[in-house]
Parts: sequence; C-alpha cells; structure tokens
Amino acid sequence: MSQSALTIFDAQRRLVPERRLSFDAPARAQALEALRRAVLDHEGQIIAALAEDFGKPEAEVLLTEILPVLSEIRLAQRKVKSWARDRRVGPTLTSFGTSARIRREPRGVCLIIAPWNYPLNLALGPLVSCLAAGNSAVVKPSELTPATSGVIAKIIAAAFDPDLVAVIEGGVETSTELLALPFDHIFFTGSPEVGRIVMTAAAKHLSTVTLELGGKSPVIVGPGADLAQAADWITFGKLTNSGQTCIAPDHLFVHEAVREAFLPLLRARMARALEGAPMARIVSPRHAARLESLLQEAEEGGAKVLRQGSSAGTQMAPALVSALTPQMRLEQEEIFGPILPVIPFRDPAAVLARINARPKPLALYVFEKDRDFIDQVITSTSSGGVGVNLTVLHYSHEGLPFGGVNHSGHGAAHGEWGFLAFSHQRAILQNRFSPLRMIFPPWTGQRLRL
Ligand code: NAD
Repeated sequence: MSQSALTIFDAQRRLVPERRLSFDAPARAQALEALRRAVLDHEGQIIAALAEDFGKPEAEVLLTEILPVLSEIRLAQRKVKSWARDRRVGPTLTSFGTSARIRREPRGVCLIIAPWNYPLNLALGPLVSCLAAGNSAVVKPSELTPATSGVIAKIIAAAFDPDLVAVIEGGVETSTELLALPFDHIFFTGSPEVGRIVMTAAAKHLSTVTLELGGKSPVIVGPGADLAQAADWITFGKLTNSGQTCIAPDHLFVHEAVREAFLPLLRARMARALEGAPMARIVSPRHAARLESLLQEAEEGGAKVLRQGSSAGTQMAPALVSALTPQMRLEQEEIFGPILPVIPFRDPAAVLARINARPKPLALYVFEKDRDFIDQVITSTSSGGVGVNLTVLHYSHEGLPFGGVNHSGHGAAHGEWGFLAFSHQRAILQNRFSPLRMIFPPWTGQRLRL
C-alpha cells in the first residue's frame, strides 16, 4: 500500500464526524463554487491537455467535457439545500402517534475511479454529486489520458485541501491499492470487465458501489423513420469523440423498406461531418490496432467494409460494415470506435429477440414515427436509457437518471440521482404519543388479529 493513499484516506476518514456537523448545504455550495472557479481558471490547460491526449477538438472539449461539469455544478448549487432536506413521511396505522422522516446523509469517504474517454467530465461530474451530498473524495483519473489526469490533479489541488478532495494518479496498480481500502462508497465508470473487479473488491468491505459501465447500444431505424433526422443523430452519436462514447450507437438495425434510401443519406451526413475539424484520435495505438483487427476479421469473414476516407495511425476513418455474421467480434464486443455495423431487418420481433439475447445495453435508440412501433421496442427490451428519434442527448437532461442496468451498470448519476448515489437514506421514527401498547410482552392472554 502506498503511504500517500493510506495517509489521505485516514485523514479524510478522521474528519468524517466533524464534517457531518459543519459541511452543511451552504458549505457544500461554497465547495462547488471553488471547483467551478478552478475549472474555469484551467480552461486553456484542459483544452490543451485533451488535444495532447487524443486530439479532441476544442469545440468537443467545451461541449462534452467542460459544459457538463459546469451545468452539474450550477444545478447542484441551486438545489443542494432542497436535495439535502429531510423528507417527512406520513403515518401508517401501526405508527400512529409517531413522526417519521428520512435523512439524506453523506456516506462518508468516497472513491471515484474515472475512464479515459471523457476524462475530465467523468472524473469531476461524479465529484460534484459527491460533494453536494456532503462527502469527501479520492479521485483516480485514467492513466491513458495522462495530460488530462495532470490537469485534474491541479484543479483539485487549487480548489481543495486533500483532506476533503484528493487526486491520486496512476494505473491499475494504484486502482487496486485504492480498492483495498474500506471506502464508504465507490463510484466507478469504465468497462463491465473492470466493473466486476471493482464490485468484488467492494464486497470485501461491503462498500456500496455505483457502476457506470458500457455495452453494445443498439439503434433501430424503423420503416416509418424520418431518415434525414436519423442520419443526423446517428452521425452525431457515432462520430462524437470518434465513437469512443459509452452511449454511442454500437450497431444499427435498419428496416429493409428504408435501407436503400437511408444508407446513402447516412454516408453523406458522415462525409459532411468530416469536413470540420479532424475528429478525436483513437486513444492509443493499441486501441487503434484492436479496431483495425475487428475490421480485418469482418472483411476476412465476408463482410463489406465501407470506409469514409483513409486512416493514418490513431486518426481513424469512420466505417460502415454490412453483411456481418452474429459471430463476428464486431457483433460480439462493444466497439468503442468510429465503426458501425449495419444489419438489415424485416421482422421487428427478430431484432428485439437479438437485442434481448445480449446483455442489457446502456442505451437503446429507436427512429420511427409510428408510436406503436416505438412502444413495442421500449416495452419488449431493457436498457439503461432510451433515445427516441435522437441519440446521446438523454445524457444531458438534468432531470433524468443516467445509468445502466445489470451488465451496463448499477445505480445512476446526474443531478438529484447523483446526489442520492452518494447519500445514505436514514430512516428515523420518533415516538410522540404512540398508543401501541399491545406489542409489548408479556403476550399471554392477548391475541393479535392480522
Ligand atoms: P476501464 O474499465 O479499462 O478503466 C476505467 C478505470 O479503471 C481506469 O481509471 C483504470 O485505471 C481502472 N482500471 C483498469 N483496469 C483495472 C483493474 N484491473 N483493476 C482496477 N482498476 C482498473 O475503462 P476505459 O477503457 O477507461 O473506458 C471505456 C469503458 O468505459 C467502456 O466500456 C465504456 O462503455 C465505459 N464507459 C461508461 C460510461 C458510463 O457513464 N456508463 C462512461 C464512459 C465510459
């Protein structure tokens, strides 16, 4: 165990009792203000770091990294007082004469482990909820985006004492060391494989966990879809961050009746998107090689790969792939890159059965005008969230919980849902004039009729 991780954990833990008394709603809003200022003060460095780490265009950094953190802070600052308030609960027959309330209490000392794909947003977003709920935190950014990890460490050092929030940088070894400590809550964003490791480690201390994982999010284009709209949104969802987005459409099911009209539209829409700033690079040569190997395997198996431009190293051209078989890795694994398998269908029930045969995805998208079709898709499937005639945008709706289900995650983030993830809901029942004497022993001679 590295001394610094243990020292920081102990220091934070020692302050928990004192923090319960002093870290009230106004103090939390103040802490969030310190974070807001530090993020703004480092805006230039954030943009430069993400360009260095994987060539993320500035507009994308503003839209998908900085803006979501600032909105999460603004929302929490406005709402923290009402979120943190006790909830009164009305009496039941047997609790007549008592008063009941639920206190939303901080969990204590929390660990936040972040991935590399939105390295700033997914480290600081959960931290906002964590602080709003009155906790302290250790944040472990991803080692695959080292420049951004360094800026996150600077932002946190500028805003907080390490006994409230500390960043511990490092890779798997660091993460493993941290996971050995008895954190009160662990908020992990990353792959389902590592999610299992986190949950296993948490089980040792019975720490609670929120797992924001990934998966293969399907998109269905129905026979009555507005095709131009579908092309716009699928391009946006797939090409943002070069497809390295947990809720990017990962495979496309398109109805036979519209396939011929839709695919040229989608290709044209993607080509237009590529006229702007170069897309983000694939995060590392290893990740790019994996994506190329997925394409190669598909091509060798008889699939048709249609590339939009040419790739150079980690700068990868988007590709649409058709004539796949369900056994190909492109159809088995989360792709996490600018590759979109296209699967035609005639019978919606067969598509839904194919989706249901896989682990539950993080997002599911349907493009269609017919309400019955949309309802059938939603009712017959399960997923973390759903987008109807759009992609990805449900992530940024402040009032919606963001999270997966089973294989794609446990629990939810954002706004009040994030606040609750980092809170313990403590039940308090106080006796005022309870007349309930018959429950006291001795019970002889008494009958309780149910
Ligand atoms: P990852 O699971 O490889 O890594 C995530 C974090 O876990 C990193 O900080 C890493 O250092 C740490 N880690 C890696 N291996 C570990 C191990 N063996 N033991 C302990 N810690 C370990 O994920 P990634 O490659 O950074 O991110 C991509 C994945 O994250 C995709 O599956 C994607 O769908 C998912 N994701 C989910 C969300 C969401 O909100 N649900 C958001 C972004 C990414």
